[in-house]
Amino acid sequence: MRKEQENIEISKLLFGDINKTKEEILKKYPKRNLDEEQLVLRFAPSPTGFIHMGNVYTALVGYLLSKRSRGIFILRIEDTDKNREVKEGISQIIKGMKHFDIEFDEGMKGEKKSEGNYGPYRQSERMEIYQVFAKDLVAKGYAYPCFCSTEELEEIRRKQSETGCRTGYYGKWAKWRDSSVEDIKRELESGTPFVIRLYSRGDIENKVNVKDLIKGGVTLSENDMDAVLLKSDGLPTYHFAHPIDDTLMDISYVLRGDEWLPSQPLHGEIFKALDFEQIPYGHISPLMKIDEGGKRKLSKRKDPEFAVSYYLEKGYPVQGVKEYLLNIANSNFYDWRKQHPEEGILEFNLKLEKFNKAGALFDITKLDDICKDYISRLSAKEVYENILNWGKQYNEEIHKKLLNHKDYCVRIFNIEREGEKVRKDIIKWSDAREQLEIFFDDMYEELQKEEVDMDKGLQRDILKDFLDTYYFGDITSEWFGKIQRIAQKYGFCTDYKEYKKNPKKYEGKVGDVAMVMRVAVTGKKQSPDLYQIMQILGESKIRERIKEYIERV
Ligand code: GLU
Repeated sequence: MRKEQENIEISKLLFGDINKTKEEILKKYPKRNLDEEQLVLRFAPSPTGFIHMGNVYTALVGYLLSKRSRGIFILRIEDTDKNREVKEGISQIIKGMKHFDIEFDEGMKGEKKSEGNYGPYRQSERMEIYQVFAKDLVAKGYAYPCFCSTEELEEIRRKQSETGCRTGYYGKWAKWRDSSVEDIKRELESGTPFVIRLYSRGDIENKVNVKDLIKGGVTLSENDMDAVLLKSDGLPTYHFAHPIDDTLMDISYVLRGDEWLPSQPLHGEIFKALDFEQIPYGHISPLMKIDEGGKRKLSKRKDPEFAVSYYLEKGYPVQGVKEYLLNIANSNFYDWRKQHPEEGILEFNLKLEKFNKAGALFDITKLDDICKDYISRLSAKEVYENILNWGKQYNEEIHKKLLNHKDYCVRIFNIEREGEKVRKDIIKWSDAREQLEIFFDDMYEELQKEEVDMDKGLQRDILKDFLDTYYFGDITSEWFGKIQRIAQKYGFCTDYKEYKKNPKKYEGKVGDVAMVMRVAVTGKKQSPDLYQIMQILGESKIRERIKEYIERV
């Protein structure tokens, strides 16, 4: 180990142009003046251009917990990996989150814009801060420069593998750990690129018990890796940046994906080296799916439903998706929702300790059910507004139809929406086309028409009789009475029980007659209530479609 004076000398050699002290920085970031229960949480994504459901899940949790506690929710951008960054990456994140009504009180507000007194909120703009802390660590012997080239590191790894040792830069393998001031000076003078590494004091044989807000008590091995803190371009690694940022921003809990759990001992060691109080962690389980009989993490490559864009394009109702995610987070959400159908989700007491500890199953069929339920609770007007908004961005044809035929469309969306049993056939806004296609001639023409399995002559007779007796002003019972009479005339049974007993006695049942009319009017064997459809289509259109059908079959 080097002497204190030597470490100070090395820190000056490395960071000669850094004059600020750690104390000066700490002074700029005072503790927030908040009550203890007010949580300051942050969402800290990298601007990689791909936003997935795991991001929405984590951000939603942070947003709700901070809002419920009257706290603060921050957007911090972790852009220290310049290779993964894309143009407009920050705006995409903000927009994606806003779509789910997740807004930030503090932090990045646009590509360059930010708000709040604890910034900068983009890591690439916090270089000086990281350098000051790195200098301090080097001076205290907690960090050192390492000049190993990629080839040298590979060579170390190869030797380790050959001799059956753990791979990595640690202990006796850490070549630059205890090197002399002279050696360091020499490399610096010749301009050899270097990184700054942690001087780990840990021992892999020791165990650390950590208390996780979600997982509970977890036992892990101590860290002994001399992890990289500053990369050769001077930018910090995630390991080094997050303890500094979360401490300076006075964050209450670090809620993050559980892929980081194994690194917690390393992070704990960095917190200690920096002389910071440890911020509690909550590690959120990843979203999983059942695949080939097993459970696996949702993947960007294999699962289109992992991407947030999938939900936007298909027009999943935001509220439905959020409710489903909350259901994954706390399984009692579903019961709560049943008891409180009208309450906003902020009223739900979301609890970290009730989170799924292993893997949370993301089941798109369940999501569909929740969305169906949710949409069934909306009024026809609300459905109209939502589809209009979605169409504006994602489907011009539907948008135009809705814009130009507002009342007509609201009536269509109102079919079987009022009364005891509400129809649940809309999962997402893109399902609108199916709702509309029988009501607009241009769409109807494109529709692949279904056929009825019945003698064609009989079908024609039934429909002709219907046209003869049809009166638009009939109420449902009158309308149905006429269908029953036609059914009887052609030997169809109008009593379901009787028909079940003696099916051979009849040509069929009254439903078969209604089916001919349904297919003649809508082109489909399945449709919502036929009477309501006819009332919306109007008399002339119905006569026209039935006549056209009689000629066609
Ligand atoms: N940028 C890190 C990630 O996306 C953030 C993890 C954290 O929230 O601390 O995984």
